[in-house]
Amino acid sequence: MSDAFNHLKPIQEILERVPFGLITDVDGTISKTAPTPQQARVSPLCQHYLLKLSSHLALVAAISGRPASQAKEMVGIDSMVYIGNHGLERWRGGKTEFPDSTHDYSRVIKPVIKELTSLLSSEGISIEDKGVTATIHYRLSPEPQLAERKILNALNASTWAKSLRVIRGKMSFNLLPPIEADKGTATMDLIREYNLQGGIYLGDDYTDIDAFRAIHTACRDRNFQGLAIGIISSETPEKLGTEADFTLNGVGDVERFLKWMTESALQSS
Ligand SMILES: [Mg+2]
Repeated sequence: MSDAFNHLKPIQEILERVPFGLITDVDGTISKTAPTPQQARVSPLCQHYLLKLSSHLALVAAISGRPASQAKEMVGIDSMVYIGNHGLERWRGGKTEFPDSTHDYSRVIKPVIKELTSLLSSEGISIEDKGVTATIHYRLSPEPQLAERKILNALNASTWAKSLRVIRGKMSFNLLPPIEADKGTATMDLIREYNLQGGIYLGDDYTDIDAFRAIHTACRDRNFQGLAIGIISSETPEKLGTEADFTLNGVGDVERFLKWMTESALQSS
């Protein structure tokens, strides 16, 4: 793992490519992890620099496991594009767009939540209804390892959960429709749609690895140069560091990095 601040020159070269896109995860990347998702706040400094960058770059997008409208509410910048529910939905110009193939799954999520709620009555486990997906959180559990085992058993016992994809998150499990949409497909769609020649992706969790791979695929297959930057904390999955080109230490370093990016973008425009 190599700190991004030790490689600002090659990063600067990529930043000069036009059109350039910055794609960032939200929780754990521009917002410190909080005990519950409701308590998380985007860092005001990150907000400040993202707003400035969004008027200089072809694309500034936030990509999140949260619903797209919630990511938009948290970041609060109208000129950005918001991808929610791990790549399944997009908020743009005031409305949320879903691919048609996800609609049927909003009918599966409610019975899954009902079934899992009856199987998981332990303290500190909660299930978040996100419309076409759901997330089981156990950060508040007094015995996280026990909670994790209980959740895995409940998922095995649930008949409804079998029709969904289960993806690990930090102290959480995500239940998603079994269609091919993740942060990687969403990242690739943005690269194609905006015809990006350069790009940076920032992310801190398992599901961001799909986006890292999309960045690397685009570098191979298109006229595109991009970097995947992993945000490291005590809970970071090891794989994230090995798949990232560079790393940053926590939200504090992301603030400094966005400041540097903003100054570089202003200088070159
Ligand atoms: Mg995250």
